[in-house]
Amino acid sequence: MARVLVLGGGFAGVVAAERLAEQLSDEHQITLVARSRQFVFYPALVRLAFGNCDKRDISFDLRDTMLNRRVNFIEAEVAHIDPFERKVSIAHGQVEGKLPYEYLIFALGRRLATEKITGFYEHAHHLLNVDKAIAFGKAVEEFSDGRAILGQCFGARIPVPVYESAFALARLLEEKGKRERTRITVITPDTLESELRDASAAAALKKAFDTHQIDLVTNFRIASVKQNSVFTHSGDAIDFNLLMLVPPFRGSSAAHYLGVTDDDGYIHVDSTMRVMGQEQIYAAGDCVAFSGPKMGYMAVRQAEVAAANLAAAIEGHAPLSHYIHEMRVVIDGTGNDSLYLHKDIWTDEPATVRQGRFWSWAKRAQQKYWEATHS
Ligand SMILES: Cc1cc2nc3c(=O)[nH]c(=O)nc-3n(C[C@H](O)[C@H](O)[C@H](O)COP(=O)(O)OP(=O)(O)OC[C@H]3O[C@@H](n4cnc5c(N)ncnc54)[C@H](O)[C@@H]3O)c2cc1C
Repeated sequence: MARVLVLGGGFAGVVAAERLAEQLSDEHQITLVARSRQFVFYPALVRLAFGNCDKRDISFDLRDTMLNRRVNFIEAEVAHIDPFERKVSIAHGQVEGKLPYEYLIFALGRRLATEKITGFYEHAHHLLNVDKAIAFGKAVEEFSDGRAILGQCFGARIPVPVYESAFALARLLEEKGKRERTRITVITPDTLESELRDASAAAALKKAFDTHQIDLVTNFRIASVKQNSVFTHSGDAIDFNLLMLVPPFRGSSAAHYLGVTDDDGYIHVDSTMRVMGQEQIYAAGDCVAFSGPKMGYMAVRQAEVAAANLAAAIEGHAPLSHYIHEMRVVIDGTGNDSLYLHKDIWTDEPATVRQGRFWSWAKRAQQKYWEATHS
């Protein structure tokens, strides 16, 4: 009998636990630990902020869904991991103490390093959780004049909600008849090409921005925020009346116990999703040190690969599955400007880019499908 611990209740943790329950026989014990029993479908947070769905539409209770799948669920904080003794210390939850394991999947995501941007906490909105998305939505409602800045900070790894917020804001202001009194600016710390890893994808997005008169400022690395302006280190400034930024990311703070992280705290894994230099430990999702953006599709694929190889290892087999670093994403342009991008990040092959209203619909359908198959 093997005890398998899955840490994290996001896309990666949920999919890993589900796949393990399908692939392992009943004698093995699977336990998922997460600090909250609510699963939140993050890609819908922009729609939540803009009042296009309710918070109950984008979350569900993990405990019951896990128990239905033969996975024990523990709501608690992962405080420490000892890979030598094979124990995880948990605190502040329904139980406290040390959980022993034979196999571990680490899927604790990333953390927000808002402290790297002076003034972020006081003057910037973000939308990376339900409460913050709702607060940003209230500020959007009050915005009717001047300039809105929507941007990524250097080290942020999710550009999609920035682009989608710009389209949603343009649409909302047009509907309210206030578009002419307002200006919408998207700020990126690099270029669209580097964020999307492809020139044709960047060109399609730029054209869609132009259609909606959304300005783009590239290579602008925000270092600090004051009441109505963002600043770079060299003192360049842009004024705003509404500000939403995706802050810099860091790897999960629990990752360093594994001793194999890069400078930003992301975990090094091989293509089987096994943590480098560690036996019987796998990692999946935003916590791993692959290049480029961090996205739900990647987290799900990594979790599937990790679960398949962990199940094979328990049966004494060699790894069965290898991860390919692909981006498959829809940027909801709220209509005809919605884009679908598919890009293999590890090759020079150009991206597949599709455009049209269908993709906006497909993104919502994908959320419904996720809910139907996982909740
Ligand atoms: C606003 C927004 C929009 C996005 N839009 C898209 C999109 O359109 N398309 C796309 O593909 N991706 C999108 N993403 C990215 C996608 O949501 C992430 O890549 C994905 O959620 C990563 O999954 P994960 O399981 O690795 O991490 P997470 O979803 O962050 O899950 C981590 C889990 O670990 C738990 N946890 C963390 N630390 C601890 C601890 N110490 N103890 C216990 N539990 C802990 C958390 O509570 C959570 O359950 C978006 C993200 C955001 C925020």
